[in-house]
Amino acid sequence: VSGASQHQVTVDDVAEWWPTRAIDAHKWNGAVKVIGGSPEMPGAAVLASTAAARAGGSLVSLSAPGVTVATPPEIVQRHVAADDFSADALVDIHRFGALVIGPGLGRADEVLMATRACISDATVPVVIDGDGLFASAWSAEGPAPLLRDRELATVLTPHDGEFGVLTGSPPGADRVASVRAAAADLGCTLLLKGQTTIVASPPEAEADPLGGHVWFVTNGDQRLATAGSGDVLAGMIGSALAMGLDADKAAAASAWLHADAANRTPADGLLASDIVDAIPAAIGAIR
Ligand code: AMP
Ligand code: MG
Repeated sequence: VSGASQHQVTVDDVAEWWPTRAIDAHKWNGAVKVIGGSPEMPGAAVLASTAAARAGGSLVSLSAPGVTVATPPEIVQRHVAADDFSADALVDIHRFGALVIGPGLGRADEVLMATRACISDATVPVVIDGDGLFASAWSAEGPAPLLRDRELATVLTPHDGEFGVLTGSPPGADRVASVRAAAADLGCTLLLKGQTTIVASPPEAEADPLGGHVWFVTNGDQRLATAGSGDVLAGMIGSALAMGLDADKAAAASAWLHADAANRTPADGLLASDIVDAIPAAIGAIR
């Protein structure tokens, strides 16, 4: 694809990019807010928030609209109503380094509305996954006005179906071109999941419409195709953003570590929570 530099992410890239905490860090350096889960899908919120914590998120706060979910004791829960949670969930959002929104939220109208308000009002870098992608597109104008108006980094993490919801059509035969076009149109960093995960940054300047770069993450395999796997990835990206990594590197390095964590487990019977448990070993191996 002309104009874009393309590169396969390596262990050395991840070792160079992944943040280390300062010796005098405190727990609000690298704090992550997660808004996800619902009475029907509480597990997605647990996976995203525990993955954020295991990936380095120093304080993870979860708001699961309309439900209290069973998290490990380290996750701080802030209860919010299901019908209009944006103001309650974003209390003190400026103290967090990033927001992860979408995993398991469901698609009730009031939830979609409040999710859109959160995306628009969050004054921190945001990862939008799962039903948050559906909410972003839930407008006659499509997702572009909401997403382009954001001033801080936005990472979108669709699989093929969610990509179709987001852009109006599934990725074409040329997946790279599809992802680049969506990143440019929406002004966001796009991570398209799949056997090869593709990360594209939006072009930096109008004058350089074919600029930007594309990264491929290829170290995962079919064991990642398990329920909750993507929720884990979203939490990891939130953590990387909260620790100060640029959106494109946060997305690509997290995808690589997510696959590497899964590769450290037995070949069969992988649960998404096993990926979460293996994150520290994967990060340890790049140090
Ligand atoms: P989700 O569909 O949201 O749960 O996300 C699934 C995650 O698993 C993404 O990170 C995908 O890239 C990854 N994944 C799914 N299937 C495969 C596969 N066959 N090979 C490699 N990675 C995969
Ligand atoms: Mg998912």
